Amino acid sequence: MLTDPSLLLDRTLIGDRWIFAHEQASFTVTNPATGKPLGQVPDLDAGIAHQAIDAAAEAQTAWAALTAAARAQILHRWCELLRANAEDLAIILTAESGKPLAEARGEIAYGAAYIQWFAEEARRVYGETIAAPQPNQRLLVLKQPIGVTTAITPWNFPNAMIARKVAAALAAGCAMVVKPAEETPLSALAMALLAERAGLPAGLFSILTSTQAEAIGQAFCSHPRVRKLSFTGSTAVGRQLLRQGAERVLNLSMELGGNAPFIVFDDADLEAAVEGAMRSKYRHNGQTCVCANRLYVQDGIYDAFAERLAAQVAQLRPGNGFDEGVTLGPLISDRALAKVEAQLEDARNQGARVLSGGQRHALGGTFFEPTVLTEVTAAMRIAHEETFGPIAPLFRFHDEAEVIAQANDTEYGLAAYFYARDLSRVWRVAEALEYGMVGINTGLISTEVAPFGGIKQSGLGREGGRQGIEEYLETKYLCMGI
Ligand code: ADP
Repeated sequence: MLTDPSLLLDRTLIGDRWIFAHEQASFTVTNPATGKPLGQVPDLDAGIAHQAIDAAAEAQTAWAALTAAARAQILHRWCELLRANAEDLAIILTAESGKPLAEARGEIAYGAAYIQWFAEEARRVYGETIAAPQPNQRLLVLKQPIGVTTAITPWNFPNAMIARKVAAALAAGCAMVVKPAEETPLSALAMALLAERAGLPAGLFSILTSTQAEAIGQAFCSHPRVRKLSFTGSTAVGRQLLRQGAERVLNLSMELGGNAPFIVFDDADLEAAVEGAMRSKYRHNGQTCVCANRLYVQDGIYDAFAERLAAQVAQLRPGNGFDEGVTLGPLISDRALAKVEAQLEDARNQGARVLSGGQRHALGGTFFEPTVLTEVTAAMRIAHEETFGPIAPLFRFHDEAEVIAQANDTEYGLAAYFYARDLSRVWRVAEALEYGMVGINTGLISTEVAPFGGIKQSGLGREGGRQGIEEYLETKYLCMGI
């Protein structure tokens, strides 16, 4: 099926060494749509993590000493290779994550866009000079690469979550050791192979395929050469890594969970709001941290919105991501399925009404029917927990102040969305929502040119935009007597 079968790897790159699955302990990667195995990859331990970090430290000094233009050139070449192999990369991504092929193609393009962006940003790292308080002083600020960095990434964007970290790190002059999610290491391995083909020096980008997440996390936090850890995943694991990192006052960036409100005011463009909700809620079967999690709809438009949304949801087609016309893949695991079912049962028991869907899909496995729930209230679990599945819970609200209070009533603060046309309201609501990102009259907000990230317990730091490279730079102040 692949044009270049060598992109499907059973080995991983640690420093300048390819380690094969058959050489030592390994684990199986499976297709969540079929349950069938896709291949074996090495199951590496903390000892190898240390080796990867040492190799990164060795390579990083020379990399940082290159000109920004020279680093950018390699990143551009890597980006070209990713684009040239986009179809194969999308196939690998669909096979291991279950997302429909069209979405996988979108993710490969999105990931490559980050690499292009940071290749461009490499050349725009600026320091400053400061007017000195004394006549015989000159004050300057330099920006320097942090050094050896590490990353732990999730399964829902097996390519893009790595791309936006490693591209920023490499552009800044850092090295990075990445532990991809154990569900989806194959996309990461293909990226590393293409980076090698693009001429990236060995050691700068190692991939630790492993099922020993906790031990790897500890190695990343404790090895003295590691200066930063960038994590994307659950808030619970993020908290644990923050605690571990505290020992060495490690620089940490965190992209954690969300509980995105999606608010539709009476004056919204109804068709546009339904379309935005479909995109925001059902992308990757609801399994993204910026997916709409709670849909608040104002009284005057509630019934019409619910009816139209249910009609659109009925058009969705769950299935194997490789099949023509499939718009929803499976859930990633049995655990994910159990969570969706538990939230749904709790909501039903407390009076929510199922307008469409509401049960496991006839396809079996971890497939679940896309679902719309009405008459959902703040007392239900679904109001407080991230769902990570294809359920759209519709809450009814009366006025603006009430809905803002409800939208903000969560420990999370990643993405929020609202639809309204009154200009004063648009400003008021945009400013009042306690979120790192707000989509206004749109359900899609992610782009490499803008800072992605959360506030409150959704995270620390930003990825993408001109802010993204700052995460991998130290500020050094020079005070010069003359
Ligand atoms: P999810 O529930 O979406 O899988 P996790 O936060 O559990 O979210 O996983 C995100 C990433 O964090 C994955 O690469 C996973 O292997 C890793 N991970 C899970 N537990 C730990 C841990 N205790 N320490 C370090 N990394 C972990």
